[in-house]
Amino acid sequence: MNDTIIGIDLGTSTTEAAVIRNGKPVMIVNFDHELITPSVIGIDEAGNFVVGERARAQSLLAPQRTAMEVKRKIGTLDKIVLGNRRFTPIELSAKLLEYVKTYVSEELKEEVNRAVISVPAYFDDIQRQATVQAGRLAGLQVERILNEPTAAALSYGLEHMDEESHILVYDLGGGTFDVTLLEMFDGVLEVKASSGDNQLGGKDFDEKIIQYLKDVFYKRHHLELKEDPFVAVRLKEEAEKCKKHLSKEESYQVILPMLMEKNEKIYELDEVITRTQFEEMAQELLNRTHSPIDVVMSDAGIGPEEIDRVILVGGSTRMPLVAKDIERYLEIEPEKAVDPDYAVAQGAAIQAGIIQGTVHQEDSIIMTDVNPYTLGVRCMDMFSDDNMSVIIPRNVTIPTSRDEIYTTNWDGQTSADVEVYQGESAIASSNHFLGKFKVSGIPQNRAGEEKIKIAFSYNLNGMLDVKAFIVSTGESAGISINMMEEQDKQKSVDVSKWKESSYAKQFRTVIRRAEKAIKEAKKEGDSFLEEDLSDCLNQLKRALVEDNLSLAEELEEKLIDLLETE
Ligand code: ADP
Ligand code: MG
Repeated sequence: MNDTIIGIDLGTSTTEAAVIRNGKPVMIVNFDHELITPSVIGIDEAGNFVVGERARAQSLLAPQRTAMEVKRKIGTLDKIVLGNRRFTPIELSAKLLEYVKTYVSEELKEEVNRAVISVPAYFDDIQRQATVQAGRLAGLQVERILNEPTAAALSYGLEHMDEESHILVYDLGGGTFDVTLLEMFDGVLEVKASSGDNQLGGKDFDEKIIQYLKDVFYKRHHLELKEDPFVAVRLKEEAEKCKKHLSKEESYQVILPMLMEKNEKIYELDEVITRTQFEEMAQELLNRTHSPIDVVMSDAGIGPEEIDRVILVGGSTRMPLVAKDIERYLEIEPEKAVDPDYAVAQGAAIQAGIIQGTVHQEDSIIMTDVNPYTLGVRCMDMFSDDNMSVIIPRNVTIPTSRDEIYTTNWDGQTSADVEVYQGESAIASSNHFLGKFKVSGIPQNRAGEEKIKIAFSYNLNGMLDVKAFIVSTGESAGISINMMEEQDKQKSVDVSKWKESSYAKQFRTVIRRAEKAIKEAKKEGDSFLEEDLSDCLNQLKRALVEDNLSLAEELEEKLIDLLETE
């Protein structure tokens, strides 16, 4: 069996992976036997890629060959230069994911090629798509993109469910601060508001200590500490070590022998830093978390008294000062149950387990996801009887329920056929047909007098429930559609068979042009165009395989538009 889905927390500064074993998430060690991998990618002196700790180790000494915090650039057209080569953020994120895929496969002793990857709640569609592409490039099929705060809440939620509550997820990582307000209602988690400071994180705390040490050095030796890269590396590593120690211990002795040489005299640094001292330096940074917290509360329209739980995520929340500061500011004691470093990866693994059926939905919070295709019904107007009337647009967060009201089309109409479709065409029959049913018993009346409400409800088990109600009588009928199966069906069409279509000839030229353009876009590293073109081309080929001429023509137009925007 090699269909294990893993959960990956692809962080700005660190990356973690987890898998479900016996119904519970288990973290997976990398090749350095560590659970945490620095999100750093580099090229070594010999020109080979290095990832993780090895890349981090060279980062300060060979910055021109090392890329850090690539996640900040994902979804942009920026290029990242390593040595004399240029990469897209997608390509470098893929290197990181490839590393994860390799160590996980080794550890699990099976080839892993499916994953759930988490992203910040504020990531837009482009950033999410770029993350999916990075996964694909790394040889991972991305089964789902999951919001980090949702993942964190999920890892917490296994034991605590079906409560109606507001959850504040406070995520202080290496270089970013994200705060999200989730609302849980009827077992469903929804992102209500998110905010943060993308220039605030663990590094800033390290920096405070570095600054302090420099000041001490000056006071002791009346000398400015020389800023060469080797000194910088040692200061940085020692500062971070000191910070981490102070999360557990009350004091830490910084010892940096032979830090500087001047006039044949060697200078060192030996200084005890107490937690209290550190907390005094750090308070200013924590004050900066307050206004984003206020923003999410005001965006969500709630006050601190309505927050039921505060969950701490991110390595930096291990500093005891963080919980203290939140308690002072919100008068809420944050939860301690979740491991801040692993919560997100574990939540991603739980989501993976739900997809695979190794974690039961009842055991966990149900979560939000996104509807990948537009859903609607066929309806008629004065001009056509084949309109796609959209009920749930694509990319809407699911679970969701939406409805529309329709009216009868002719005098004395006593029944109506409801046909459900999925797809992006304005012509219903050009889309993928999902199912149909009949509502009868409409009271005889004049055209347009009787109202029929059609309600779609898409839940997280992948079921789409469609119900039609006759408004005047309350009578209803409906069907349930298994969207998981439909999605699989859509995937399983063999698009390479498009040449066998009776319309193939008509579309050959445009398909050739598109294929050429895709190759060019790939060469130029324009991954957006590449993705858009491939997506559209695939849809066109699929339409041909299904002998759907009108859809093929629509897609041809779209494809030509794309080809012309080059
Ligand atoms: P991201 O989500 O941005 O990738 P992480 O959540 O992994 O980041 O957080 C990394 C940060 O956590 C680093 O700045 C690291 O120094 C800090 N950190 C890790 N462990 C501790 C600790 N015990 N005490 C204080 N800070 C810590
Ligand atoms: Mg993180």
